[in-house]
Amino acid sequence: MNTSTQAFIPYGTQWITDEDISAVVEALRSPWMTQGPLVEIFEKAVADYCGARYAVAVANGTAALHIAALAAGFGPGDEVITSPITFVASANCVLYAGAQPVFADIDPATYCIDPQAVLGKLSPATKGLIPVHFAGQPCDMPALHNVAKERGLMIIEDAAHAIGASYDHQGNTYRVGSCAHSDMTIFSFHPVKHITTGEGGIVTTNDETIYKKLLLLRSHGITRNPDQMTLNEGPWYYEMQDLGYNYRITDFQCALGLKQLERLDDFLDRRWQIVRAYENGFATEEELILPYVAPSTISAFHLYVLQFKTLSRLDVYNRLREKNLGVNVHYIPVHLQPYYMQSFGYEKGDYPHAEDYYSRAITIPLYPRMSDEDVTYVIQAVKETIRELSA
Ligand SMILES: *Cc1c(COP(=O)(O)O)cnc(C)c1O
Repeated sequence: MNTSTQAFIPYGTQWITDEDISAVVEALRSPWMTQGPLVEIFEKAVADYCGARYAVAVANGTAALHIAALAAGFGPGDEVITSPITFVASANCVLYAGAQPVFADIDPATYCIDPQAVLGKLSPATKGLIPVHFAGQPCDMPALHNVAKERGLMIIEDAAHAIGASYDHQGNTYRVGSCAHSDMTIFSFHPVKHITTGEGGIVTTNDETIYKKLLLLRSHGITRNPDQMTLNEGPWYYEMQDLGYNYRITDFQCALGLKQLERLDDFLDRRWQIVRAYENGFATEEELILPYVAPSTISAFHLYVLQFKTLSRLDVYNRLREKNLGVNVHYIPVHLQPYYMQSFGYEKGDYPHAEDYYSRAITIPLYPRMSDEDVTYVIQAVKETIRELSA
């Protein structure tokens, strides 16, 4: 039961301004209702922001993962390694391609896939890796790249949480999405993510062959580019060269995406401000494990996850909901989803670090539009809950 007078604070939500709305309205007055000129402009803006050569915008982040898995060449008989602590889409895209997802346990400090655990899951069938930058914390990409390079594996970064994150390596700073240590990176523009297009997603890459493949897969495998066709029977002629999908994004969504991208750095600054307030507010709470940011990395802080060392996660969750906080749990380990357990024989205990993390984790609110009063209320509500349940 909700006994609080505080207005509900969700764990994450979009921030749409009048300027965003005007940009969408303007796009709606143009002749372009599906793909138009704004798609390429948005793609170039995202590619430039990340430091990648190419980008292909699509209908959602899951579609981005699907065409990335196909462009990587994953197929029947192949195994692809990903993290159990992620949204189901990171593993499902491997199944869409007809290949087999294999999980490797997380690093208990960062909650990202552990490169050592990846080594333990390699087999002659391993064809690729899908590291997930969990909560915005970049994975150890140089280490994963080393594992992949020696064995000819493809890497797709699931960066749905991590636009704007970066990491240092050998004196250089790399933005997530630059694909400096991978073949492709995907982002999601779902409203809970950093920037939104309603539904939407994108794949970045530096590889021209992959780029062309992604363009085909986005729209039925069809090309209208005369330079790429085997025949040209006239101006009406197009060719289907691969089995693709309708994963197109619309021009008016890209109009919104372009406006949102202009504010991404401000959004990130506000997220980091709130994170610092949480770090200060929770500094003396023995019960809590706060998010860890690995040295030489900058997290994009999509989520702020607390682990409770001794209290019942269910009790904490219920108390915080009573206090009108839209707390959540990210994520139920994918290998423990009934579909995965029944189809592939996974069992409780298979990934101890992931399962231990899951048993203690609660995501508290974090989004740029949160007021300072909201932040103070969240800190008080968490501390009060610890006192109440410890009594
Ligand atoms: C949100 C998300 C996706 C899927 O993105 P959609 O745009 O919702 O399809 C994939 N992976 C992770 C880790 C996500 O958080």
